[in-house]
Amino acid sequence: MNLFAEFREYLRHEGNNSKMRIGHGFDSHGWEVKKTKPLILGGTTFKSEYSLKGHSDSDVVVHACIDALLGPTGLGDIGMLFPDSDPKNENADSIEMLREVIAKITDLGWEVINIDCSVIAEKPNISKHKKEIENRISEIISAPFSIKGKHPEGLEQMNGIACFAVSLISEVTPITGRGRSVFRNVIGSLRDHIRRNVRLR
Ligand SMILES: [Zn+2]
Repeated sequence: MNLFAEFREYLRHEGNNSKMRIGHGFDSHGWEVKKTKPLILGGTTFKSEYSLKGHSDSDVVVHACIDALLGPTGLGDIGMLFPDSDPKNENADSIEMLREVIAKITDLGWEVINIDCSVIAEKPNISKHKKEIENRISEIISAPFSIKGKHPEGLEQMNGIACFAVSLISEVTPITGRGRSVFRNVIGSLRDHIRRNVRLR
């Protein structure tokens, strides 16, 4: 068996037994009677005459995503990590909270496979900033992120915005044992190949 076939075999069998978990998060914020801050969803500011109540920047999308990551990694929930009682969290940028959560779960040996979420809102129109939000969050979680806006059919009395998020996370498996020597050989042979065949200008 040649080196690359051996490596492929290794990945298929030994390197592919990492643990996966699903996470779920939910958040909702009510409309503020008087606009006090910008309307931010998924780290993106929407043009709106309304704002959402809340201690932080009230980004329901990011808050739901955070809970979808904290649940399956055993880190609790957003209220435990960023309590309302802490003045530090007043008007806090939720994107920064998400970065902190990603750093924490990465330290524990987890990586995000993807996050998908649904925003339930009469207004604003999520599709207007869909791509922008997806790119923004995707860059932070280093994985695909998808967002869909849904009208609250039959829930007309809803006085705010709600968001559901699901995440899939995977344990980063360290390369050990036989895999390590196979991996080292592959890297070595790639290096030789580049040295022989690629001239850098
Ligand atoms: Zn929230």
